[in-house]
Amino acid sequence: MFDLTGQIAVVTGGANGIGKGISETLAKAGAHVMVCDINEEAGKATAEAIGGEFYQLDVTNVVNIEDVVQQIATKHEKIDILAANAGIYPEVYIENMTERDWDTIQNINLKGIFFTAKPILKLMKEQNYGRVILTSSITGDITGYPGGSIYGATKAAILGFMRSTAVEYAKFGVTVNSVQPGMIATEGLKKQLGILSEKGAAAVPMKRLGEPEDIGAAVAFFASKEANYITGQALVIDGGQIIPETPDV
Ligand code: NAD
Repeated sequence: MFDLTGQIAVVTGGANGIGKGISETLAKAGAHVMVCDINEEAGKATAEAIGGEFYQLDVTNVVNIEDVVQQIATKHEKIDILAANAGIYPEVYIENMTERDWDTIQNINLKGIFFTAKPILKLMKEQNYGRVILTSSITGDITGYPGGSIYGATKAAILGFMRSTAVEYAKFGVTVNSVQPGMIATEGLKKQLGILSEKGAAAVPMKRLGEPEDIGAAVAFFASKEANYITGQALVIDGGQIIPETPDV
């Protein structure tokens, strides 16, 4: 396991699902994890289980973000790792989509990433060190599904944001990378897309859905000193789902 001893990590959407897996994995690697989530009950439980701290955070609320980042920076005097992961993926078909649906999805998935990263990048620049890992999706630039148009657009935008931010902050010792999960067994996947393990697993060459820890391991790698010279990159973690099979002709 990568050694993140003494590092301060912020994980958004850290209470449940992939964010919980990231929080647990970073904590196992030695980081002190700030579990930041809108869900107080689940966030407190996750933070307690890993010896971390909980901060109630709605990533759509810029004032709330700046306040939480300030509290963490004042208490710990640094933030080494940001895993900006909070996101939603409701199935919304184009002809049913309202402006409100558009705003809700964009605000959490894209605006939320930008305004969480902004004050933390400033701090990382001042400390001349930082590791930012953004949760995109294979739906960002590889796959698609009916009802996923705006979701896919936000996840593609995260990749664009990641590349330019990586270049902008490279000279300040800050790396910015992305993870692109395939189907990961979370409550979100079940509730928002109705994907159950057996059904989803059939579409994956490994014949299982991913586990949140599978994404956590990739985030720990990007956060580690071993990934020192890697920036602006996206890593697909999908059990082989995106590989087109050679037709059996
Ligand atoms: P999930 O619904 O299981 O968990 C999401 C967490 O984010 C929850 O704890 C929730 O409370 C929190 N959250 C929601 N809105 C928030 C807000 N406004 N502010 C702060 N926290 C908020 O979802 P998941 O499956 O773990 O997905 C996490 C991320 O991974 C998302 O960005 C999603 O797009 C991405 N992703 C998931 C999958 C998958 O198969 N599960 C695949 C690709 C990408």
